[in-house]
Amino acid sequence: MRLQIRTLHLLRNTNPISTKHIHNPIYKVRSPHRPLLAFHTNTPTNNSNRNFMGSSFSTSSTATNSTDTMSSKTNTPPVQKSDDEWRAILSPEQFRILRTRGTEQPHSGTYNHHSASGTYTCVGCDAPLYTSTSKFDSGCGWPAFFEGVPGAINRREDGSLGMQRTEITCANCGGHLGHVFKGEGFGGAADERHCVNSVSLTFKEE
Ligand SMILES: [Zn+2]
Repeated sequence: MRLQIRTLHLLRNTNPISTKHIHNPIYKVRSPHRPLLAFHTNTPTNNSNRNFMGSSFSTSSTATNSTDTMSSKTNTPPVQKSDDEWRAILSPEQFRILRTRGTEQPHSGTYNHHSASGTYTCVGCDAPLYTSTSKFDSGCGWPAFFEGVPGAINRREDGSLGMQRTEITCANCGGHLGHVFKGEGFGGAADERHCVNSVSLTFKEE
């Protein structure tokens, strides 16, 4: 009898707590730069480990096609400003996204469906970050690029919101851009999707 009660107790406590129940509310609330398809088919931990190992230590894997730089604690962007100095030159929304790692609402950004020829620069420091030739429509609700301008993008492992992702920032000023996802099959030399907030960008037409 005691065994039966214990078994029931275990069942009652384990059934509702599935991965689905834990992760779905987080995903719906914040919609972090990740389409539903990729969220369910990729293993975030393995994916991020592959990115990190490929970018930092390997000299022969396909990940070396990426020209981004994996950030470390000693990798300090050349442009340094205090929060007050950033607030003086950025709008409140720009400050929220670039300096506090915010995310704009999906399908809301100026450059989500923007297709003109030119260069996307950092709204914080004017550094060239992406060209229109690397832009594609991923359907995720944010501007998507296969790759950044060589040396313009830094990467950092981001374990926020209960997920393992790779944050991308402007290498010149450290401004938050979005996240990069690998192996989704969209194309590009490195099979990567740079998912970038429109708010972080300014466009300069050619
Ligand atoms: Zn910048």
